[in-house]
Amino acid sequence: MTVDIETTFARLKAGYASGRTRPPAWRRRQLDALRRMVREHRDDFVRAAASDLGKPAEETMLTELMLVSSEARFVRDHLHAWTRRRPKVMPWMLQPAMGWTVAEPKGVLLIIAPWNYPTLLALEPLTDALAAGDAACVKPSELAPATSRLLAALIPEYLDPDAVAVIEGGPDETGALLRLPFDHIFYTGGGKVGKVVMRAAAEHLTPVTLELGGKSPCFVDATADLVVAARRIAWGKFTNAGQTCVAPDYVLATSDVAEALAKRIGVAVTEFYGDDPQRSPDYGRIINDRHFGRLCALLPEHASSSPSGPDPAGRLVCGGTIDRGDRYIAPTVLYGTDPDAPVMGEEIFGPILPVIPVRDADEAIAFVNGRPRPLAAYVFSRDRATRLAFERRTSSGALGFGLPLGHLMSSRLPFGGVGASGIGAYHGEVGFLTFSHVKTVTVKPSFPDTLRLVYPPFDAMTRRVIDVLRRLG
Ligand code: NAD
Repeated sequence: MTVDIETTFARLKAGYASGRTRPPAWRRRQLDALRRMVREHRDDFVRAAASDLGKPAEETMLTELMLVSSEARFVRDHLHAWTRRRPKVMPWMLQPAMGWTVAEPKGVLLIIAPWNYPTLLALEPLTDALAAGDAACVKPSELAPATSRLLAALIPEYLDPDAVAVIEGGPDETGALLRLPFDHIFYTGGGKVGKVVMRAAAEHLTPVTLELGGKSPCFVDATADLVVAARRIAWGKFTNAGQTCVAPDYVLATSDVAEALAKRIGVAVTEFYGDDPQRSPDYGRIINDRHFGRLCALLPEHASSSPSGPDPAGRLVCGGTIDRGDRYIAPTVLYGTDPDAPVMGEEIFGPILPVIPVRDADEAIAFVNGRPRPLAAYVFSRDRATRLAFERRTSSGALGFGLPLGHLMSSRLPFGGVGASGIGAYHGEVGFLTFSHVKTVTVKPSFPDTLRLVYPPFDAMTRRVIDVLRRLG
């Protein structure tokens, strides 16, 4: 396999060095082919996501395939504007002179994808990379094997094999890839492996983008429309069975509405998935036994037998049932969770939603600021001052007022984390720039040679120039 990896890398290097990826026409052809691939194999992608994650077809369409297609169309439509020279005014002391910036491709990229949106999170960064004129090696997640196999089969069929490749495998293969001198590494996944990636990248001084996770909070107060807030929180949380990097991880609600909100979220769960979500065709499953076990350990101790009782995880408002054979965990809402409970430790990344009462927005802001900076934060409040306070006094990859998840659907908005939730961003122009080097170009004609004024030996004229410059500030 290592030989395969090295051969593939050498092929991509040669492909990139040949200059084939640079012309805008090549980029457009690749972007069109990528969209065609997704369109012509829609059913195969849907089947693969169903096999990997029990994902409903509609969810795969809405949250993966349509987003890839719209991103590819968006970057294709803007390619001309983004690849143009951007003239800059030069300082008068250098005149006559011109300057501009131009985006050039970075080279050969490594894209390491996770399992939770296995098509989207492999193909969306690839889309931005193709727009930027790079060659790329995609490493899908071994935990989503059906999608990984599909990508490995289709990508060489649709995209230029001298510039795009897929290497399948797990930590061993990723480790072998990470030893190679890629020109940029784009990693999506957990922070622990993010550190492995960054350490390996340091060896070659390779720039990285790390799209990580974290506990994304959600704040609700009495000014919010509780019914709408409950529905949107339930949708954001239980889509893909909670295995979404920007899902609301937990809810902080002012104590005057917290319990009512928790119950309302329970009602929304029934509206979405019926009385028995296990039988709903619209509700997914947990990726594997390890994650299933990890999530079960976060539930209240007697979750499936007793609907109430003091437990640091909180009181069960809905859900709590599990089926190991089916890797099913019901959409679960907990109320009154202890901030020190295990469920409030790491990112939950599953269908368990703790609701914690707080006094007011200030207490919620202090709670959020006392923890690592999250990938997203959501606020449901009609109070302008409260919204402003969250915008100004908290830091997160993104902030959504009344809208969980929505920001990741726009190619016009950068998507990325901050602090522990990531480094760098992509989507649209920001994605194009992530995979480009913005090169500065300057031009000065040889006549007149105005630089003579600053050449040594320094004389009275030089001192006069310095004097004038100093006075001009
Ligand atoms: P994962 O297990 O699929 O791992 C991600 C990638 O790292 C895979 O390709 C895997 O093969 C590779 N990998 C795993 N162990 C490795 C090792 N020891 N050495 C080298 N490579 C290794 O994904 P995950 O980490 O379970 O994903 C879940 C996390 O990802 C969550 O924290 C979630 O919030 C985050 N996430 C973030 C985003 C985002 O866009 N910011 C999107 C999805 C998921």
